[in-house]
Amino acid sequence: MLCDRCKAEVDERDAVTRGGQTLCEDCLMDVMSPAKACDPWAVKLAKGAKDAGGAGELKGLEKAIFDLVCSRGRVPKEEVASLLGVRATEVDRAFSVLRHMELLRGDRRSDGGADLVPFSGG
Ligand SMILES: [Zn+2]
Repeated sequence: MLCDRCKAEVDERDAVTRGGQTLCEDCLMDVMSPAKACDPWAVKLAKGAKDAGGAGELKGLEKAIFDLVCSRGRVPKEEVASLLGVRATEVDRAFSVLRHMELLRGDRRSDGGADLVPFSGG
């Protein structure tokens, strides 16, 4: 039989049914382990390695902002500039790149400001 998730051939004895899906052991572990907030980044990196270009080129301020948000979970947008010692306009430019890459997104707060959060999290 086939794993519903990765479509790998899996022995019926090793297959596990979970949530209506037949999963191999690897996929079961993926499903069981709590999602890591910055997994999308690893995925993009892997993709970037295959087809040159893409998120593999993340650098400088973009990488610094991404690392900052990953380590904290969420960072108020207006604090990023002072935390990293750069101008707000530079943060805006870098953030637009990260958002375009679907690595980070803005999460609007009740006070009208915005936090930067991992794209898949928050
Ligand atoms: Zn699988």
